[in-house]
Amino acid sequence: MQLSKRILNLNAGGSDGWDVFYRARNMIADGVEVTELTIGEHDIRTHSKILNAMHEAAKAGHTGYAVVPGTNALRDTVAARLTERSGVPTTRDNVLITTGGQAALFAAHHAVLDEGDVALICDPYYATYPGTVRGVGATPRSVLTRPEAAFQPSFIDIAKQARGARSILVNTPNNPTGVVYAEETVNGIARACREYDLWCISDEVYDTQVWEGAHISPRTAEGMVERTLVVGSMSKSHAMTGSRVGWVAGPAEVVEHIINLSTHTTYGVPGYIQDAATFALNEGPGLEKEVGAPFERRREIGKRLVEAQNLVKLVPSGGAMYLMLDIRATGLSGEEFANQLLDAHHIAVMPGESFGEAAAGHVRVAMTVDDEAFERALSTVLSFAKEMTP
Ligand code: PMP
Repeated sequence: MQLSKRILNLNAGGSDGWDVFYRARNMIADGVEVTELTIGEHDIRTHSKILNAMHEAAKAGHTGYAVVPGTNALRDTVAARLTERSGVPTTRDNVLITTGGQAALFAAHHAVLDEGDVALICDPYYATYPGTVRGVGATPRSVLTRPEAAFQPSFIDIAKQARGARSILVNTPNNPTGVVYAEETVNGIARACREYDLWCISDEVYDTQVWEGAHISPRTAEGMVERTLVVGSMSKSHAMTGSRVGWVAGPAEVVEHIINLSTHTTYGVPGYIQDAATFALNEGPGLEKEVGAPFERRREIGKRLVEAQNLVKLVPSGGAMYLMLDIRATGLSGEEFANQLLDAHHIAVMPGESFGEAAAGHVRVAMTVDDEAFERALSTVLSFAKEMTP
């Protein structure tokens, strides 16, 4: 039987850069001890306070179908949070609760793209971006960013690709680079959106993890409220990756249509998960700081180690749970480096090439093991780079 072209095409053009990840997983399954600095998952679990709230909500009976757009309490809480953080007045009608940020990314693209449309994505990009665009029948087109510009997309970078495109997906703080977009970058994105009449889908799932600089949402820039869909999530901010709860925020008329999409796909998010998310957000910034603190500490460890040598360079990151290392001085590709590192030292990092073209010759290090193990592993990565350099 013939499958749809859309599903067959979903992973088309996937990079081999994920080989090292699967190889590491196979080694672990074979009993080899591997230090995994690969995917963005905390080494702590969801806080027991949040679990208690979830448990209480479930016991109180919030286990039936929840209303599709999300509970009023959670939509109001998210709206108040967005208003407070961005200064853009946001109400319940601007917010739809989704099963995590990934479903929000899909819904946002589904809402603004027709079959065959072109959607811009900034390269390097989070692994699911091209597939998300293809999943709605559209075609991804890369905006190549440059290491010399800390991978921040400029107006010119975008303008080069913008003709005929309908949307641009941006991500600050950024995965894979950890870079926090400067005000100039955000203004350049906004200018490109206005001049080329693009929708802006702004992935802000790391907005609570900013260690240097400040998070600026493109939604706050001139003329952007009506054309921006913000993607948010509880996964990274509250270590709730497995709970699958996030949101899309944007113009009420867009949200209204995305509610229809939810009705025909997920039919909403479990009520007890939403109650736990409401509780967690109302705990305020203290809890978010606690969840993010290990990454802030490890980033300092990473900076210290990188500064103590002069071969490997650190992409000037300001947030998220990753460090992007420029290993071009070794003469190896990111893929060669990562594979050989895994063989020699059983340390798994992600090749820059697994996130598109722009980060070739780089590796992404997830700061997701305890401080001591992180320091040991990163020291080994740096001495390995030295060994491998002719
Ligand atoms: N966007 C980015 C940039 C991510 O790194 C992730 C998860 N790693 C997501 C979206 C999706 O997160 P979730 O679906 O867990 O909210």
